[in-house]
Amino acid sequence: MIDYEVIVIGAGVAGIYQIKRLVDLGVKAVVLEGSPDLGGTWYWNRYPGCRFDSESYTYGYSFSRELLDEWHWKEKFSSQPENLRYLNHVADKFDLRRHMQFNSRVDAASYDEAENIWRLTLSDGRTLTSRFVVMTLGLLSMPTLPRLEGMDRFEGPSFHTYNWPHEGVELAGKRVAVIGTGATAIQVIAEIADKVGDLTVFQRRPNWAAPLNNSRISQEEMADIRGRYDEIFATCARTPGGFEHEPDRRGFWEVSREERLKLWDRLYDEPGFGIWLRNFREIFTDEAANAEFSEYIADRIRRRVKDPEVAEKLIPRDHGFGVQRVPLETYYYEAYNRDNVHLVDISETPIVSVTERGLRTTERDYDFDIIVYATGFDAITGAFDHIEIQGVGGEKLGEKWKDGPSTFLGMMISGFPNLLMPAGPQSGSASTNYPRGIETGVNWCTELLKYMWAHGLERAEATRAAEERWTRHVTEMYAMMLMRKAKSWFTGYNSNVAGHEQGRIRYFVYNGGAPKYVNTITKVAQSGYEGIVFGPSDEPGRSGRSEERLAV
Ligand code: NAP
Repeated sequence: MIDYEVIVIGAGVAGIYQIKRLVDLGVKAVVLEGSPDLGGTWYWNRYPGCRFDSESYTYGYSFSRELLDEWHWKEKFSSQPENLRYLNHVADKFDLRRHMQFNSRVDAASYDEAENIWRLTLSDGRTLTSRFVVMTLGLLSMPTLPRLEGMDRFEGPSFHTYNWPHEGVELAGKRVAVIGTGATAIQVIAEIADKVGDLTVFQRRPNWAAPLNNSRISQEEMADIRGRYDEIFATCARTPGGFEHEPDRRGFWEVSREERLKLWDRLYDEPGFGIWLRNFREIFTDEAANAEFSEYIADRIRRRVKDPEVAEKLIPRDHGFGVQRVPLETYYYEAYNRDNVHLVDISETPIVSVTERGLRTTERDYDFDIIVYATGFDAITGAFDHIEIQGVGGEKLGEKWKDGPSTFLGMMISGFPNLLMPAGPQSGSASTNYPRGIETGVNWCTELLKYMWAHGLERAEATRAAEERWTRHVTEMYAMMLMRKAKSWFTGYNSNVAGHEQGRIRYFVYNGGAPKYVNTITKVAQSGYEGIVFGPSDEPGRSGRSEERLAV
């Protein structure tokens, strides 16, 4: 007898919704979570300034009217403590905690062909079995540190932003180093600049950033939002990114430069990703259009940073605006106008080692009290690589995905039956407003399970041909995008992970936009799941074994 019909791995935004759907169906299911509590990204990332760039009311789950009606988002772009409170509220409201096991890290998952079950080995020594495994591991849940000589030598506190100490860090009067200038660093730097004694930012490559323009949400505004939820989610469903932002459908070259400038001036002052996603579509695909817009943003940076030399260092030269994930910021550039904030360009003077007292570059030694590594993640497939996953015939997923993932719809893998990934590599989630994408993925996976249970099917596997078709489709879409050239987690770049250094592009995300993705996966379901081979129960009369499947 198997332990569970479904084991979900990971209790973040996706895992919480997945278990809700399974519990509602009365299925015997559990979530295994390696961390001490639920929340995923929002459990771990506790660095100052941590918040999302999605409009809060488009980030919440849409599945419960009651939940929508009772939750008051306090800010247009909500911060980590509030987001974690929200996820806890959801779990408590729907009594989901009793279906979750914390400190339960899965080390290995292996498919037993003869029994048609998954066998999971946990780091606490337990082995659990299930018919299905749903991987909701997080896109950015494997933090990566630099590979610097002497990292253990530093005598003060040093940590990755993902592991920011939960008890908080005393910053007043401290000399702090931040390594990295990605979305995370840009939030931390802006937030702590006026709280520390001295802040030195070690920048290898600048990122294009634009203002978040955050604000509080009053009771009246929240009441208005509640009245418009249907409309809001309908808009999110028809936009490529799953946001309220709809691209400007006029041709970049068809309007005058004055018109373009008028649009950009307006977008720069508007909240959220409008500057990226309400822009002309050519900025993603046309070098010349992108260059003109990038120059506009460069001028904005020059206007905000007083020291012209520092301003020039903060302007990216190796990629255009928006071809990497755009960080949104609040007084980031102004931080560099402070006397206590210094920028070190480590493309000129690289860090050579960590010393007892700080950092050594090729130019000089720096003394610090605290070192913060804002150095990013082994994105998208990193969390999969940390579990030894074996499919049919002992095939190792790590081996299969060595040069990059291949999937069917980003949710299934040929050779790995009954393994589902609602927000997997090449699915619609990574490149969209995440919760909108995961609701789509979780719903599709749950409907597949319901279909199987209704038809007495116990084994589902994507065919090799279907997987090859999907992966080719995802790959071909990169060809149209300027982002294919970017050193970014969207292309699998991470200088700290062997094999992920720039040069070998990994086709991680689906670039066709949410509506097209939803359309495609819906058609697959409607066709009776073309591309998936089903197996019935191998024992006559046992099909659908509802007494085992259902929670008692
Ligand atoms: P990231 O974008 O990958 O940035 C990592 C930074 O660290 C880069 O500036 C990188 O420089 C630098 N770096 C890495 N290794 C280094 C080394 N060995 N020496 C020197 N510098 C090094 O990671 P992130 O900032 O954590 O953001 C990741 C993603 O998380 C974002 O793109 C976003 O999707 C998400 N996020 C979202 C929010 C939000 O919603 N507001 C906030 C934070 C993060 P190079 O570029 O030269 O490699």
